[in-house]
Amino acid sequence: EKNNPNEPEFLQAVSEVAETVIPFIEENEKYANKKLLERMVEPERAIIFRVPWTDDKGETQVNKGYRIQFNSAIGPYKGGLRFHPSVNLSILKFLGFEQTFKNSLTTLPLGGGKGGSNFDPKGKSDNEVMRFCQSFITELYRHIGPDTDVPAGDIGVGGREVGFMFGQYKRIQNNFTGVFTGKGRSYGGSLIRPEATGYGNVYFVKNMLETKGENFKGKTVVVSGSGNVAQYAAQKAMEFGGKVITFSDSAGYIYDAEGINEEKLAFVMDLKNEKRGRISEYTEKYTGAKYFEGKRPWEVKCDIALPCATQNELNGDEAEMLLKNGCFCVGEGANMPCTPEAVTAFQNAKILFAPGKASNAGGVATSGLEMSQNSLRLSWTASEVDEKLYGIMNDIHDACVQYGKDGDGYVDYVKGANIAGFVKVADAMLAQGVV
Ligand code: NDP
Repeated sequence: EKNNPNEPEFLQAVSEVAETVIPFIEENEKYANKKLLERMVEPERAIIFRVPWTDDKGETQVNKGYRIQFNSAIGPYKGGLRFHPSVNLSILKFLGFEQTFKNSLTTLPLGGGKGGSNFDPKGKSDNEVMRFCQSFITELYRHIGPDTDVPAGDIGVGGREVGFMFGQYKRIQNNFTGVFTGKGRSYGGSLIRPEATGYGNVYFVKNMLETKGENFKGKTVVVSGSGNVAQYAAQKAMEFGGKVITFSDSAGYIYDAEGINEEKLAFVMDLKNEKRGRISEYTEKYTGAKYFEGKRPWEVKCDIALPCATQNELNGDEAEMLLKNGCFCVGEGANMPCTPEAVTAFQNAKILFAPGKASNAGGVATSGLEMSQNSLRLSWTASEVDEKLYGIMNDIHDACVQYGKDGDGYVDYVKGANIAGFVKVADAMLAQGVV
């Protein structure tokens, strides 16, 4: 704590990992050597830089830019860029730390990194977003590369932003490489990458349900968020027969008792991705649905909860409410959406609980597949990529069960994911000496 003052999210992420990994280290002596854990919690490099740009009125604006290159033991740094006013060093270090374990779990050769800016894309014109992205890359380009560090999207960074940043990188470097993932289809993007995090989360949850002889059919599903991850988690949950009844954004949530169908989902996708509107507008179109201003959807009765918005969006009291209402399965689509109190409540109640580093790893896994396709200079079909994604999520689930099953048969997916992710990175670090 004294080494990382004012970094509550980072400390939260580290303590959650330490709680499960330290007992494992104590049982496995080789990992106690060479200050392994102490090295793992320190990013290899944290870059902070100025991002000046000009708005549409001709005024100069200045934002902070970041890239945390956390761990490259098993592959080039890999992880998204987040553009959101809340972005700071603590949040990006937490995300970079988590990313290291997540990427290890994917079974692909990917190190961990994360970056972004406190730039707020809301209310900005396309031209302002483009100028910001160009300025951001004019500094960041010297630190990234297809074999060094390969950024992608995250909150506030989707296809539009990746396109602007890739274009500027290519212009400065005069080469066309797979330096970004989440690219558009016409310039090296992979099919299924946009869908991958949400789909992957639902594939993981499907695996968890199967351990109880259950499935999505007829289950009521509460989803938070209405961005990339939320949209595709909802789509796949619906396809598997679940009834999705909520979406949210930072201003409130909508509740559609009839259930969201493909048509309503298409409306949400257009509203959020093209019109960049607010989820409250859903009730203008679908008048049977209700909007709850300033609230989160966890008060709605459900069987399965998929938090897909942001960190710490589901607290201990809300977890108790979900449990009281009969929720028996939670799959984190976002990174660390459940507070430690919420995770403890779910685990004490012995319900199925998947931590984001396992259940949302499908996004980065498919980014890894995009990198492979770029290197091979070819492109796989949607079903080829989806099949690989499905297989990877199954493997991650199996690894969590292997390391997380307690004596009484309960699977602690948090412990399982942390230890499975740790082992590969730790072995690589030990083999590479004290670096
Ligand atoms: P988007 O920007 O597409 O969507 C984010 C959604 O969350 C929006 O509905 C947004 O609402 C809401 N949100 C953002 N901040 C807050 C907040 N402080 N309080 C309440 N709601 C908020 O991002 P993604 O869908 O890509 O990312 C969502 C989560 O999934 C993040 O935790 C991200 O790290 C994680 N993730 C994403 C991956 C990906 O491939 N995209 C991969 C793995 C994890 P509003 O419109 O009001 O801002």
